[in-house]
Amino acid sequence: MAETIYTIPVNEAFEADCECPVCELKRRFESETVDYFAGPSLMEPDTRIMTNDTGFCARHFGQLYGSQAKKLGLGLMLDTYMREQISRIKKYAGKTGLVPVGDTDIPEAPVEEQEPVKKGLFRKKTAAQSGKDNLVKYLKHHETECAVCKKLDYTMERYVDIIFHMYKTDSGFRDKFRKTKGFCLPHTALLLEMAPKKLSGKAAAEFSDTVAALLLANLERIEDEVDWFTKKFDYRNVDADWKNSRDALPRGIQKMTGNIDVIK
Ligand SMILES: [Zn+2]
Ligand SMILES: [Zn+2]
Repeated sequence: MAETIYTIPVNEAFEADCECPVCELKRRFESETVDYFAGPSLMEPDTRIMTNDTGFCARHFGQLYGSQAKKLGLGLMLDTYMREQISRIKKYAGKTGLVPVGDTDIPEAPVEEQEPVKKGLFRKKTAAQSGKDNLVKYLKHHETECAVCKKLDYTMERYVDIIFHMYKTDSGFRDKFRKTKGFCLPHTALLLEMAPKKLSGKAAAEFSDTVAALLLANLERIEDEVDWFTKKFDYRNVDADWKNSRDALPRGIQKMTGNIDVIK
């Protein structure tokens, strides 16, 4: 397979000395995506329409704020995003009768069906209660939206396709794959789940055996390293070699959870 914008990062992640090449790909693309939104794209009309609509999740707003983003650009984006959300919230909260309904073209939130109270009796919800319920529904939905997460989810799906394609067609990549330290628990589950969908019966079984063997061998390796880390606190081991255990905690945490923020 010719090297493409997708295969180059996959190859590089599988060559990196790390506890999970899929985490490595994700970390790299997440930081590129945050840089993209922190850059001039923030002022492009199409991007602004999207960011006014979805905004960013707590994690990615935090990363944008901590990045090299020009604070003026970030401020302008936050300003129009907040203005858009205020008009939506007014529209929903307006139904409580506490706030005037704004003149916006936000679609009506669906009004809840009447709820049965007890046998055959129905209590009609007050307009105020329906308005609050709709606002809660909107706010909960909005909490799940994020321009960075959306791009990241889409691209990670493509990367997983590429990993399977390369495993199937490129023997050099298969060797590289088998020489990794395996994958974190969540990405192991993802790869095992996808294998039967992406590979034929025999190849899927071989792939899954490889992933499972890598998981067990490397979990035991890190557990040994964590164990030695704790033993180094014993005064009798003060002068003993750290071996590979100095950073066993962050690597163990990454392996078990896929958390890449603990890795320097
Ligand atoms: Zn991972
Ligand atoms: Zn996000």
